Amino acid sequence: MFDKILIANRGEIALRVVRACREMGIRSVAVHSTADSDAMHVRMADEAICIGPPPSAQSYLSFPAIISACEITGAQAIHPGYGFLSENAAFVQAVEDHGIVFIGPSAEHIRIMGDKITAKETARSLGIPVVPGSEGGVPSLAEARRIAGEIGYPVIIKATAGGGGRGMKVARDPAELELAFGTARSEAKAAFGNDEVYLEKYLARPRHIEVQVFGDGRGTGVHLGERDCSLQRRHQKVLEEAPSPAITAEERDRIGRICADAVARLGYSGAGTIEFLYEDGQFFFIEMNTRLQVEHPVTEAILGVDLVREQIRVAAGLPLSFAQEDLRINGHAIEVRINAEKLPHFAPSPGRITQYHAPGGLGVRMDSALYDGYRIPPFYDSLIAKLIVHGRDRPEALARLGRALGELIVDGVDTTVPLFEALLEEPAIRAGEYDIHWLERWLRERMTAAS
Ligand code: ADP
Repeated sequence: MFDKILIANRGEIALRVVRACREMGIRSVAVHSTADSDAMHVRMADEAICIGPPPSAQSYLSFPAIISACEITGAQAIHPGYGFLSENAAFVQAVEDHGIVFIGPSAEHIRIMGDKITAKETARSLGIPVVPGSEGGVPSLAEARRIAGEIGYPVIIKATAGGGGRGMKVARDPAELELAFGTARSEAKAAFGNDEVYLEKYLARPRHIEVQVFGDGRGTGVHLGERDCSLQRRHQKVLEEAPSPAITAEERDRIGRICADAVARLGYSGAGTIEFLYEDGQFFFIEMNTRLQVEHPVTEAILGVDLVREQIRVAAGLPLSFAQEDLRINGHAIEVRINAEKLPHFAPSPGRITQYHAPGGLGVRMDSALYDGYRIPPFYDSLIAKLIVHGRDRPEALARLGRALGELIVDGVDTTVPLFEALLEEPAIRAGEYDIHWLERWLRERMTAAS
């Protein structure tokens, strides 16, 4: 096992990794920009090292800064968290070239899954059902028209190099396709430096259901059930729950087995998430994330497994500490992503926290790097806390979420807490009957009603 791990991230996820390290008796090294000198992850880690100025490109994304920090502190492995360098194959290569262990899959697997076209081809070849669409990149408008005609409108145009819900455009007819194709390409070029796009059938009312998988890199693959992340704004997840209120135990077993088998055949190592859209009893692969997800705690809650600990174990060459048949779902868990944002437009709301009180009690977990007097810097993601609740069943989890939100105090900045309080009143949310477009529709209706 490693003696010392460097965490190439910040905020709640850096803290999450520090906690796993401490429980495993491993020393942790925090890295931080000059804007984060007072951050909680810096205070909680065993050691901390400044790696550059506030812009991420010069700190949290800087290969030389992070690799030198490892060499200076003698860290043997790097945990990348999510975002930043977690899915950067070139980084993994550089880390390995320096004799440091990357806690995650191989550069090759990251590369395959990072390109959405190769990812889809690989998924298809492993027996995973995929969304109908173009075979690969679509080079011209004429070609886009031909394929859209074949699969039928509406279609969605996506950037091959896309991520974070960016670079997607929907077209309902050939006229819209012309405009959407052009904008998708130029946006993809601007955002990812690559203007290749592909086409998919646009599903009208799917749910987003993703399967958590783990591989030991030596041909063993397991699945840890699904998470339902259908509550989204701008293609970004807002609330996640497990198990999904929409699928049966047989469907879970079937799709889980397909995913576990795929991971085993790939020889995949570490944590991964295979994302699907689910409509009318069918699963359609959209992408695979080759890292820990923001919403991993809902899986931990219902299965009692520490996913970060497993990641570290597998990276150190140890076997998984559980087998497929050891996993039993216990109750229901819900996570809400609390952002420092001002409603109704979700404008970033950085600033100083004048008062902070975290909720507690049975079945409540708060993953946050906030503290009284903390100043949220304006340079990074607006996620400030993840509140995760666990109950014997979904109604109990919902009641617990309402109770915990009521206990939470975050003063000094605006947050998205009122959004969740309002959502808890909604019959569709209480019944678990919502698709990926539900929240956007709901927000639009309320804005119109308010104006
Ligand atoms: P990203 O990597 O940018 O997150 P994804 O391919 O994972 O992109 O898609 C993100 C979200 O966009 C999905 O969860 C879903 O809400 C929406 N989406 C993606 N593909 C489709 C599709 N074919 N039809 C309808 N919605 C889609």
